[in-house]
Amino acid sequence: MAKTERKTERKTERKTGRPVTGPDERADVLIGGGGFAGLALAIALRQGLGDSFKVTVADPALGRSHTGDARASAIAAAARRLFETLGVWDKVADRAQPILDMVVTDSKLQDAMRPTYLTFGGEVAPGEPFAHMIENPALVDALVERAKADGVVLRADAVTGFEATADRIDVHLSAGRAIAVKLLVAADGARSAIREAAGIRSVGWNYDQAGIVTTVAHERDHHGRAEEHFLPAGPFAILPLLGKRSSIVWTEEKREAERIVALPDSGFHAELERRFGLKLGDIQVAGPRHAYPLGLSMARSFIAERLALIGDAAHVIHPIAGQGLNLGLRDVAALAEAVVDAARLGLDPGGPDVLERYQRWRRFDTAAMGIATDGLNRLFSNRSDALRLVRDVGLGLVDRLPGLKHWFIREAAGITGEVPKLLRGEAL
Ligand SMILES: Cc1cc2nc3c(=O)[nH]c(=O)nc-3n(C[C@H](O)[C@H](O)[C@H](O)COP(=O)(O)OP(=O)(O)OC[C@H]3O[C@@H](n4cnc5c(N)ncnc54)[C@H](O)[C@@H]3O)c2cc1C
Repeated sequence: MAKTERKTERKTERKTGRPVTGPDERADVLIGGGGFAGLALAIALRQGLGDSFKVTVADPALGRSHTGDARASAIAAAARRLFETLGVWDKVADRAQPILDMVVTDSKLQDAMRPTYLTFGGEVAPGEPFAHMIENPALVDALVERAKADGVVLRADAVTGFEATADRIDVHLSAGRAIAVKLLVAADGARSAIREAAGIRSVGWNYDQAGIVTTVAHERDHHGRAEEHFLPAGPFAILPLLGKRSSIVWTEEKREAERIVALPDSGFHAELERRFGLKLGDIQVAGPRHAYPLGLSMARSFIAERLALIGDAAHVIHPIAGQGLNLGLRDVAALAEAVVDAARLGLDPGGPDVLERYQRWRRFDTAAMGIATDGLNRLFSNRSDALRLVRDVGLGLVDRLPGLKHWFIREAAGITGEVPKLLRGEAL
């Protein structure tokens, strides 16, 4: 062991008060959390830097079945380009339903008619839909398969602690092992234990709302149409899946959501049908149902010494615009590009310059999306007739102005602003 390394270990021992036994292994990057964000980053780093760059993903859920996850995600065009570039999309393309158009309505629950205020044609470029719907388990399985094929080391372990020194960070896993790396990435979701252990505070609030998620089978074809019905308790989204099925993301006040989810099947079906309507014929619940508490949360910093936060560990937003995962994939693309650029020049991939570059790239965009989704939720999830008038005039205006509409489509597709390479469909 080099002299300087021994010196830093003595420093660590003083800082933590624990005897230092030294790490059991070494790698370049350890990613805590093997959800969409963590796995996509691991693949991007391996593909960008090759076999000599060692990447480990640790997540206690790796290898467990995801069939209980009722969610499906709207994958924006930019995120799809990233998956295509990483060689993940071809594994799921036949399970993905393009969103061909979208209608937005605004009404009370008991209204017999739901007037359409806004319609979107769904292409960002000819033949390129602005988003696809895909069920979460299929996408995670494809990411795991790609990660294994690319030589990412996958460990079914939780990150339990870490200590940063000047030239490395020692990461402790639940199995009792320690891995020394240059960079630790927190991709461990909304309740990130890694973020907390790093002492990074989050700002935000809980909405008194929950998102009920389930899958519905219907008699008639949806023709790739997504619908967002703004009801007083919040948006009720019908998002097309392959076959005559749709994914439902149904926002309710929290206690009402808990009541609805706990209803017997017939009662749940009746509540669903009141909102879904009969335009697609008879409907049947065709998957598990689950209510997710909704909130807004932004980490005060996306970085610390030899540490970067990505995905929900860095930010959680309201699903009103279906952008949470897409935002996380923008973190992935930006961090991967910053690390790959530095490592190719022989620079430290966990050094402060790399981390600052990543943070500068992502902070503004994330805050802007957080504020936008919060504002939309406040504007639409309420019972005020005056606000309803204002928003309906606004929606009508957007509908009539092709330039503004096109801008919204490009925003939803994630292709505006300073877009990192992977989201443009370019390899690193
Ligand atoms: C109702 C609802 C609908 C949504 N719809 C959409 C949509 O249509 N489009 C969209 O873009 N987004 C959507 N989102 C948001 C999206 O689901 C999340 O943003 C996304 O799943 C976050 O991915 P992630 O990889 O950051 O975190 P997660 O998927 O939460 O993964 C975190 C992983 O970390 C692991 N972990 C936890 N603790 C540790 C630890 N100590 N050590 C190691 N690993 C750990 C967990 O086991 C987990 O596998 C929706 C969210 C909700 C609630």
